[in-house]
Amino acid sequence: MSRIYRSEAIILRNRHFLESSKITTLYTLEMGKVEVVAKGSRRPGSQFGASLDTATHCSAVFYHRPERDLHTLSQCDILNPFPELHDNLSRMAYAASCLQFVDLTTPLEEPHDKLFHLILMLLRTLEAVEHDTSCRPLLWAFLLRASGLSGWAIVLDRCLLCNEEAPIVGISASLGGTICTNCRDSTDDLVACSPGTVKFLRWLSTARWERMARLSVDHAVEDQAQAIIRQHINRHTERDLTSLDFLAYV
Ligand SMILES: [Zn+2]
Repeated sequence: MSRIYRSEAIILRNRHFLESSKITTLYTLEMGKVEVVAKGSRRPGSQFGASLDTATHCSAVFYHRPERDLHTLSQCDILNPFPELHDNLSRMAYAASCLQFVDLTTPLEEPHDKLFHLILMLLRTLEAVEHDTSCRPLLWAFLLRASGLSGWAIVLDRCLLCNEEAPIVGISASLGGTICTNCRDSTDDLVACSPGTVKFLRWLSTARWERMARLSVDHAVEDQAQAIIRQHINRHTERDLTSLDFLAYV
């Protein structure tokens, strides 16, 4: 039997469905990721208006049928349209990468309120950021933290093999964390990593969002951090986050 749910939600993505409708993927506070049909939403003057735009924070009402994966959206009201974010192609590209990551890595209908609030914090920070160049640390921080919430954080506070706080020389993708100078020969997939990059990755895991939005980072450190995070994600999802490629052009 169907049941009506109302929940705060963030629009992850849309795809066309039949002649005039969309299938919309929501990340909801109450139920996690949910797929709904928004009937008639591609018709001019649809009641849904701009509420289904990707990266919009809204209040959604939907009919949920427990035996199905696809439910029916009844109402969607905008709570925050993030206008500065939507008007800026570069910032939207960063938001899209994060939302694609959530879509790829979360199962349907498993609520995770910390992940919901992490997505919301990212969108609020991207909305308020002063310079587009500040978006990159926000992206890497989001991916690091969302990986942690999914149960596969990169271990950064010690050597994964000997558990000591000896000098770190690299990160092992297969083991998922930092390796010290004494253990460097015990793993065959070590990615070299400077002390500055390890420090940067640790900082991204814990720093306040408004501080990250004002950060200026050395390019070499950022490139190394990016390669490490991307390799970590690819290994755990067994898929490449294609939207990250687009970021090279914005
Ligand atoms: Zn060690």
